[in-house]
Amino acid sequence: DKTKQLTIEDVVNQKFIPSNKQVPNFGITNSAIWVRFKVKNEASLTQKWHLILADTRMGNIELYLPKENKQGFILKKTGRYLPFHTREYPHRYFIFKLPLNHDQEETIYLRFTSKSPIVIPLGIWCLEKFLLKDQISILILAFMLGTLGIMGIYNLFIFFSLLDQSYLYVVVVHFGYFLNRIWFYGLAHQYLLLDFPNSLKVQLFFSFLSNLGELKFADTFLELKQYSPKLHKIINFLILGQLILIILNPLIDNINTFSGIYLVIMMTIILIITLIRLSQGYQFARYFFIATVIPFVGITLVVISTFGLINNNNLTTQISDLGIAISILLFSFALVDKINLIKKQREEAQAEALKNAQLNEKLIKEQNIMLEEKVNQRTIELEISKEKAEVANQAKSIFVANMSHELRTPLNAVLGFSQIMKRSKNLPSEHQENVTIINRSGEYLLGLINNILDLSKIEAGKITLNPSNFDLDQLLNEIKNLFELKAETKGLELIFERDESVPQYITTDEIKLKQVLINLLNNAIKFTPSGRVSLTVKNTEITKKISLVTDHYLLFTVKDTGLGIKKEEIDDIFEAFKQSETGKNSQEGTGLGLAISQKFINLMGGNIQVKSEVKKGSIFEFNIQVKLVKADQIKTKDKPRQVIALAPDQPGYKILVVDDQETNRKLLVKLLQPLGFELKEAINGQEAVKIWELWHPNLILMDLRMPVMDGYMATQQIKATNQGKETKIIAITASVLEEEESVVLAAGCDDFVRKPFQDNLIFETLAKHLGVCYIYEENEPTKVKNNSYQLKAEDLKIMPQEWLEKFKQVVIALDDQKMLNLIKEIPESHNYVAHALNTLVENFRVDLIIKSLNEVL
Ligand code: ADP
Repeated sequence: DKTKQLTIEDVVNQKFIPSNKQVPNFGITNSAIWVRFKVKNEASLTQKWHLILADTRMGNIELYLPKENKQGFILKKTGRYLPFHTREYPHRYFIFKLPLNHDQEETIYLRFTSKSPIVIPLGIWCLEKFLLKDQISILILAFMLGTLGIMGIYNLFIFFSLLDQSYLYVVVVHFGYFLNRIWFYGLAHQYLLLDFPNSLKVQLFFSFLSNLGELKFADTFLELKQYSPKLHKIINFLILGQLILIILNPLIDNINTFSGIYLVIMMTIILIITLIRLSQGYQFARYFFIATVIPFVGITLVVISTFGLINNNNLTTQISDLGIAISILLFSFALVDKINLIKKQREEAQAEALKNAQLNEKLIKEQNIMLEEKVNQRTIELEISKEKAEVANQAKSIFVANMSHELRTPLNAVLGFSQIMKRSKNLPSEHQENVTIINRSGEYLLGLINNILDLSKIEAGKITLNPSNFDLDQLLNEIKNLFELKAETKGLELIFERDESVPQYITTDEIKLKQVLINLLNNAIKFTPSGRVSLTVKNTEITKKISLVTDHYLLFTVKDTGLGIKKEEIDDIFEAFKQSETGKNSQEGTGLGLAISQKFINLMGGNIQVKSEVKKGSIFEFNIQVKLVKADQIKTKDKPRQVIALAPDQPGYKILVVDDQETNRKLLVKLLQPLGFELKEAINGQEAVKIWELWHPNLILMDLRMPVMDGYMATQQIKATNQGKETKIIAITASVLEEEESVVLAAGCDDFVRKPFQDNLIFETLAKHLGVCYIYEENEPTKVKNNSYQLKAEDLKIMPQEWLEKFKQVVIALDDQKMLNLIKEIPESHNYVAHALNTLVENFRVDLIIKSLNEVL
């Protein structure tokens, strides 16, 4: 009945088509199917018969039993879409009582409608017989559902412990299919949902869910994304299709026609993909392949049967169910197999790694032994070269000491005799000037030698800090006095500034600080043609948080407005013998000053920095760490005054001068004799001891290095006697090595003086050890004024035009002899002009002379 409108009355007179099939199958259809059969009870026993429709899927069933009076029919309505209690028996199949007496014959009608395929496995049974036979089906059903349920829970646990996604997908497959079957067989409705109709859509939903799970499982298990992105894409398309089905399910009526076809296509594709992965050598795919193949045939048969093309009996459904249950079981096996294989591979890898590690350890041990041997060998080699270097270094130190001795000895004579000559009153003024130049050059040479010595001492690591207490103000004044004339001659402003917070009395290495400041100021004045040079001193206290100890740092800044240093040269100037372009052009200096200064500053606990801009000037800034002392801890330095004679009423002092060099002896004799000391000379230690025995001098000035017997030996011999202990012995040494000081004192000397010496130092030492008193010359302040007189252009106007022109010519020709001769022509009354000009010539400031000449000419 395609119209679904016909009633039993309409149908009774209709023509029916006889069925020749045991189980008629109409597939999925929208028609109502009417079934008619004639039945006669021929059984002799009183037997109760039952009509049984052995298919769970039938949506609506109407059974028409003829009434006893043959007037009309008794109607019984049931079916899957109706609540469970409409059934006469609570069974998954549809069972009706057939009340037939012996020999009674009846014609019975049935009407079926359903969204599932209409399959009609009708039979008349003795109920007990049927139930007995049904037991096998129940067994298969129990096995299938039990397997699905238990494995589902088991895999869920494994998922929670391993957190491997594949397990989650298998769980979805399990439960999806489990619920699908529960709905299919109406089991949930039989026991729990008695009053609810069994919806096909809910069953389909679970089926789709399980398919989705299977697709995702195939994707992750076969590692498609990683190894076969194209196959991964295909799976994603199938997943999309499945999702569309899920969405369409509640909207479209006959969705199960599509879903069946879709399922077969899906399984075929999964099968092909699995084969491809197997052929790619992915061995985990083997169980998966079997798991996909087994249900394939059953499912395909079931799907074909839904179109009514082949017979569908319960066996097909059951075989298909069994196949799926085994398949799902195999999925779990496949997973376990994969995990086992991975574990095995991991174990193998670990074993391999362990083996490699052991091998590596062995290799490392061997290499270590080799390395140790190499290191030992290198250490021996290094020790040998270190020894060699030490020998070389010692040789260098000895050479430096000898050289210094050799250089200082003649310098001592140069400086000493020039000082003596300067003291002479009857030397003509012309010679006075020459002697001053000799003395100044000697001082310069001494400075140079000292620098080179300092550097080699620094390199040999022999330089040490010799801190002393001193008056910083006094030091700054001395330095200022030193540079005032020079700055004035160049027309430079020289400014010294000390912050009020800077302590006056401090402890640090005074000599080194002085040397650094002199060097920086000297450079600043040298490289500044005009403008100003300044020195500022500031106090930067730093209190350490932890110990609360305050460290005092003094910050010295020497600033000039001179030529400056190019950026690219700035890094080099602190290296020994390196000069900037301006430095080289000045044709002065050695490039040692800054290298030594930097080392000294570091030694004093500070650092030096420089900022400079070409043609604008330079700033040299350094800090040093100092300690504060009180005023009474400072030895006051007297201004050096010229000694002219011994004070009256003093005992006659006998002094023995011991030196192998005649010049040196003569120098000391010439220095001391005019004052009235009684003097004798000895040319070596042996002679000194002899003279001492006979003459008993009060003091001996003892050179140390001498032939026959040196100064140490002579001192020891003299000091070994009681009388000798009374005799003061002053060592005069040209050595620069500071450690020699202790050797000298250990030999028994009372004091020592380094060559070259200032005459005043000799006088002071005699005063200290013998208590000698002197008469001093008065200082002449006017002389200083003359010295520093700055030439003005109009001063030159005192000379005639002719002289000026002549003078300009010799100045341009840089002929200093002629210049000096012409300057001598300046009248005595204008002595200061002559003096200023002489100073300019000596300092090579021809430029200033020409400037002045140009103004008057
Ligand atoms: P020296 O002055 O004997 O050449 P230094 O080591 O004291 O050696 O200085 C190195 C070089 O640094 C100098 O030759 C000069 O080129 C550059 N220099 C130092 N001070 C200044 C300065 N105040 N202005 C310009 N250049 C300077």
